[in-house]
Order: sequence, then C-alpha cells, then structure tokens
Amino acid sequence: MTATVNGEGASVNNIPTVKFTQLFINGHFVDSVLGKRFETIDPRTGEVIARISEGTKEDIDIAVKAARQAFDLGPWPRLSGSERGKILMKWADLIDQHTEELAALDAIDAGKLYHMCKAVEVPGATKSLRYYAGAADKIHGEVLKMSREFHAYTLLEPIGVVGHIIPWNFPTTMFFIKVSPSLAAGCTMVLKPAEQTPLSALYYAHLAKLAGIPDGVLNVVPGFGAIAGAAISSHMDIDKVSFTGSTKTGREIMQAAAKSNLKQVSLELGGKSPLIIFDDADVDKAAELALLGILFNKGEVCVASSRVFVQEGIYDEFEKKLVEKAKAWVVGDPFDPKVQQGPQEDMLIAQDEIFGPVMALKKFKTIEEAIKSANNTKYGLAAGIVTKNLDIANTVSRSIRAGTIWINCYLAFEDDAPFGGYKMSGFGKDHGLDALYKYLQVKSVITPIYNSPWL
Ligand code: NAD
Repeated sequence: MTATVNGEGASVNNIPTVKFTQLFINGHFVDSVLGKRFETIDPRTGEVIARISEGTKEDIDIAVKAARQAFDLGPWPRLSGSERGKILMKWADLIDQHTEELAALDAIDAGKLYHMCKAVEVPGATKSLRYYAGAADKIHGEVLKMSREFHAYTLLEPIGVVGHIIPWNFPTTMFFIKVSPSLAAGCTMVLKPAEQTPLSALYYAHLAKLAGIPDGVLNVVPGFGAIAGAAISSHMDIDKVSFTGSTKTGREIMQAAAKSNLKQVSLELGGKSPLIIFDDADVDKAAELALLGILFNKGEVCVASSRVFVQEGIYDEFEKKLVEKAKAWVVGDPFDPKVQQGPQEDMLIAQDEIFGPVMALKKFKTIEEAIKSANNTKYGLAAGIVTKNLDIANTVSRSIRAGTIWINCYLAFEDDAPFGGYKMSGFGKDHGLDALYKYLQVKSVITPIYNSPWL
C-alpha cells in the first residue's frame, strides 16, 4: 500500500512503500540461500507490512566472506581517514533527503512516534555519521619513548570484520551507533537488525551504496537471533561482535565468542536505572522528568527511569503530580502528532528489567540511603539526579555505579559522550571517541637505531 506520509491524522494508511525486502550482501540485494522469508508486522494493526528474506547461517557465511574480502583486499581500510569521512558525509546527505520515508518505516515497523523519528532519530543518524566522518582522519598512534637502542611507535589499525547485532526499540539509532564508528575506523561488517524491525536497515544499506561505500564493506542480513545472530557470534572469521540487547543474549554471545575464535565482544545490555529526586527539586519539573524517563518510547528504553527515589519532604506532592501527568499522557496512533506514545508491543513482566512503562516509586530520607538503594541492582547503565545542591549532585554522581549520570535532565545523549554500562549492563562504549577506539587495535612497531652518535 502506498500513501503520503505527512504526520497528519491517525490513519493506518500512512504506510510508505517498502522497497527493500532482500538481504544486502556484497553491494547487492539478494534472496537468502534457503529462500526463506519472514513477516514484519505493523504493531498498530497487527497486519503484515512485508515479507523479508530470512538470513540463516549460510547467508551469514557469504556475508562474512564478502566482508573479509573487502577488508583484506578492498580499498576501505586502505583509504585515508578523510576519504572515508567524505563518503560517510555523502551518506548522511542522502539520508537527509529521505528523512520522512525512513521515519515512516521505523514508525510502522516498531510502532514508534513518526514525528519523533523524523525530528530526532533519523537526524540523529546523520549527526552520528558526520561526527565520525570528522573523526576518521584523526586516528593515529603514538611515538614512544624507548631506550637509546630502540625507537618505537604505535599504529591504530581497524580491528577487521565486525558483526553487529542490534535490537528493535531504536532501529535507526542502533544501526548508526554501531555502523558509524566502525566504518570510520576502517572496518568491514555484517549487521543483523532485529527480526521485528528490518526495514530501515535495508534502506540505509541502499543509500550507503549510492554514497560510494564499496561492495562488501557493509552487509545487512535480517534474520532471527538464534539462527543468524548465533551464526555471527560463533563465526570463526569475525574479529569482533558488537551487541546491543538483553543481558541474557549478551551472555550467550560471549559464550559463543569464547567457544569459537575468542573474538572480541562489546555488550550494551539491560538496565534498571534509578532517578533520585531531592527535597529541593522543582516538583513539577521533576515529575515531568520522571514521566519522560519511564514513558519515552513506550518505556522500551534500556535507560528507562524504572526506579524513582523521592526524598520524604516532597514525596506526597510528587506522587500526586506524577499521577496527574501520567493520566494526561496520550496513547494512540504513532502518526498522530498529538500522540505521546504508540502501541505497546507484547511484553513479559520479568523479574528484573520490565522494558516497559512500569515505574517503582520509593521514599528516602538521607543521601546515603538514596545511594545505597540506587546501587542495589545488578545493572549499571544510567542514573538521574534532581537537585539544586551542587554538593549533593557531585557526591551522588560519583557514588553511583553506572556508566551515565544525568544531573537535572534525563535521556540526554550527545555524540561525543561515551555511553555504556557498568556491572551487568555490559562493557565497551557506544558514542564518542571511545566507540571509535572500540573498533581499532593497537600495534607496536619497534626498530633498533643504528649508527646514532648517542648510543
Ligand atoms: P534481545 O537480546 O532478545 O535481542 C537483541 C538482538 O539480539 C536481536 O537482533 C536478536 O535477534 C538478537 N539475538 C537474540 N538471541 C540471540 C542469540 N542467541 N545470539 C545472537 N543474537 C541473538 O533483546 P530485545 O528484547 O530485542 O531488546 C531488549 C533488550 O535490549 C532490553 O534488555 C534492553 O535493555 C536492551 N537494550 C539495551 C540498550 C543499551 O544500549 N544498553 C539499548 C537498547 C536495548
């Protein structure tokens, strides 16, 4: 079905044409080896949007071969950083020209708010590309201070073939969080989008080819986790797996990496993030922040503020405001600009991370008690603090074991601020130069010095 996508109205007819349904391997859209297909569903209606080629181990093997060839013999890792950066910039420009279509694809595939995808997520993808395009020509090693007999320096080299495995909650953001830094580093790759949300990834692959990314450098193979995902994590010719998803799957990926070729692994996993609100906070604003923290993207956010601790002096007032604001929250069709939350997908209320809009509210008396409660989780992805007191903000931010701390804000992401977990929320950062270095490895080059008058 084809229709205009203008963000107006609440019709189920806002469905863009799905142009790409095959695997993208070695620069071409191809059917899967076994000819299998799976359905991708519109969560607004439960209807089938498209039937997508299903990648299996056989297809992952072919994609890895293409990526290996592109790495070992192709131009991409050998281009200068500025040349790679130029191509990434061109890709970003092409994405800018298709923002509405891409936003609509994510809206129908994931039930995400169309206007949020259009205003934030797709532009965020191009920001990420441009950030790493600018960083690509600043990759360099160091000259080392060695003995009088030896001179040495380090090289930063791309790690090789990377396997990216991403979840469904932010199809576009997750795609570029992985692909932008690894491409800038000079790696080649196979990316498996989540089986629920393959549409935009295939479109991005098409635009990557138009931008001039050489064949084999970026391969996109939709498929299921236990089949295509497992084939990536256990592959003998993949040098690194970069994963975002659940802690359970992260553990399986690490085990598969250990049992195969000891490939490097980086994991962005689940969270159970605390938001701590102190007595001196503006209660109205704090309630808004807490609500945004738990309801943004239907609560399907790894850093959702699912545990809110409120100091006793403002607890009752906060609770009242929170309930009032929650009642006013608008749920409906994700194409309707008035709607704040699209359809909730099926979910299991698990023991730990609910991954949905469910918040636990708790009262506390002292800073020490708040810190102790906030740290009382196996996760450590993010935390929020609301206070006007700088001493409290500094003390608490240093005491919480989490990779990101937001003071008087929540869900604030910047391309240059590294993002990633402590504890069982994983390891290895996305965003920032840390993410670029994640896809590089250090080589030391040491050479004797002959004939120096200083020996
Ligand atoms: P999931 O782990 O089930 O799936 C994520 C990806 O892994 C999908 O592509 C899936 O196909 C693949 N996969 C599943 N089993 C696999 C296996 N055995 N081997 C290899 N790949 C496999 O997670 P989900 O339910 O799609 O996503 C929700 C989870 O992701 C939540 O726990 C959430 O906190 C987490 N998440 C974390 C971040 C972060 O940055 N830390 C961001 C978003 C989501």
